[in-house]
Amino acid sequence: MDANAELRAASEQLVRYGARLVTDGLAVGAAGNLSVRVGDLIVITPSGIGYDELTTSEMCVVTLTGDEVEALETPSTELPMHLAVYAATDARAVVHTHSAEVVALSATCTELPAIHYAITSLGGPVRVASYVRFGSAGLAEAAVAALAERQAAILQNHGALCYGATLRAAYDRALLLEWLAGVYRLARAHGEPRILSQAELDEVTAEARLRRYGQRRGQ
Ligand SMILES: [Zn+2]
Repeated sequence: MDANAELRAASEQLVRYGARLVTDGLAVGAAGNLSVRVGDLIVITPSGIGYDELTTSEMCVVTLTGDEVEALETPSTELPMHLAVYAATDARAVVHTHSAEVVALSATCTELPAIHYAITSLGGPVRVASYVRFGSAGLAEAAVAALAERQAAILQNHGALCYGATLRAAYDRALLLEWLAGVYRLARAHGEPRILSQAELDEVTAEARLRRYGQRRGQ
């Protein structure tokens, strides 16, 4: 696929996953934003256009330093945060949502603890980055710090941030994070939840790795 075809494919993916943000209940209206890395370019959703009406021609193409290459609309206000994630990690796609369970948790906790072993898919317990205004360099910095050795972070009184090797992987993490935050809330309604220890999480990670190797050997 040449570079232009890859950029087009990325724009189509962003339209598809943008629509899913609304149907999956991770966003209302134009809240949240998505991006995909194609070589040394980033394709990101525009600012202020509802996901139900967003089209491929409205996606914005920028460089890794944020210079506009092709943008009929204004790139997402969280462009600095997306760029900071690409600079600090091996991310190929970034998903930022204002999903309800995560925002509620962000206002009351400093961390989403290991309520379920699936949290190993996010790298472990998810940190809550201290509140900094949307769209600021400070928020980008706080978000990247919270992502250390994690593929997900929570932004206080704001939302969720996940990345992955593909848009699908990043998006699935955003869904998982929202589910885990909901499960944690339910558990706390019953009482003080038991939290998995680091040793128990390490055991899960090791077993998952072993099983993946097993599948590969069998192929
Ligand atoms: Zn936001």
